[in-house]
Amino acid sequence: MAQIRIENVRKDFGTFNAVKSSTFTIEDGEFFMLLGPSGCGKTTTLRMMAGLELPTSGEIYIDGEEVGQKPASQRDIAFVFQMFALYPHMNVRKNISYPLLSQGMARPQVRKKVAEVAEILGITDILERPVGGLSGGDRQRVALGRAIVRNPKAFLMDEPLGALDAEFRQHMSEELRALHDRMGATTVYVTHDQLEAMQMGDKIVVMNHGVVEQFGVPQDIYDWPATRFVAQFIGSPSMNFLEFNGTVGNGAEHVSLGETRFAVPRQLAGASGALTLGVRPEHVHLSDAASYRGEIIASEYLGTTQIVTLKTAHGQVKARIPSHVPVQVGESTGLDFDARTLSVFDNASNLALISETNREVLDHG
Ligand code: ATP
Repeated sequence: MAQIRIENVRKDFGTFNAVKSSTFTIEDGEFFMLLGPSGCGKTTTLRMMAGLELPTSGEIYIDGEEVGQKPASQRDIAFVFQMFALYPHMNVRKNISYPLLSQGMARPQVRKKVAEVAEILGITDILERPVGGLSGGDRQRVALGRAIVRNPKAFLMDEPLGALDAEFRQHMSEELRALHDRMGATTVYVTHDQLEAMQMGDKIVVMNHGVVEQFGVPQDIYDWPATRFVAQFIGSPSMNFLEFNGTVGNGAEHVSLGETRFAVPRQLAGASGALTLGVRPEHVHLSDAASYRGEIIASEYLGTTQIVTLKTAHGQVKARIPSHVPVQVGESTGLDFDARTLSVFDNASNLALISETNREVLDHG
């Protein structure tokens, strides 16, 4: 299995710059998510790891060896596509055996390997069946089997569950993660679905317009978004943004919205001018005693919780509160913010105002 390191990797298609200078490391055995909206450069980044695209500049290391300009055939990496292409005229066993037979492996050894892989995937009982009549889940397992049987250094997956309906997708994502935990293979997985990335990934890279916006473990990315884009992209409903003009001193531990001071959980880097306070809906509390005020303009019932939308002097705020709490559209109420995860962004750079000390902790934590 392998560590994969991407260093200052850039990809241009003609005059179009699809991936800007990207640097990150995927550790051996990690389940690593490349996350971002359509067109942000995730697939291009994955294809460069596989050797299906060559970087315009920068280096790609697999287990310390620079492979950036080497073709896919010399990288020993398995690429699992969204549309699993199985050979329809062959049965399951032949589909899984094919990569080994084409490498010239002796038949008894192939049989043994296929049996092992089928056992791992729970498909021993369908080995002799034609792939044509299989369910979607079994087809996915066969396709995975074909990738696993080669025992590659890493698996690269491009939205492998993208075509499935929601319920089955959830089931298969749990199965893939469990399979990973059993095998411990380095896996890089492309998705535009932030929930899927949070649920499955050990680490996530968030990309936007070819730029790596943030790289880290899911909880850090959720709690401490490094940029306004990440704060908005991760979480549903997304983080609330309250825009204000102000000055924040270096090392400040609070910000002021009008007359109300809000404690922030970390020391901030100094900034002044147009700033934005970020607060997640679950950290907004409605309390008549609070001095910061808003008007309730909508409430959406979601079973155990409800999403209440309020109008404030600094923009709209959504609060996720228990559904048994009565709320009345049109009423004014106080809002309190749980200081644990408040973020502050500089509108000029769209970066979170994190003091150097905090940034070091995040970068190395
Ligand atoms: P999606 O989820 O829609 O596939 P993505 O984040 O994976 O999005 P990429 O497929 O990496 O994005 O594409 C990034 C950008 O590069 C897009 O604007 C795309 O149109 C462009 N691009 C990708 N491949 C090529 C190519 N071969 N020639 C020209 N432009 C390309």
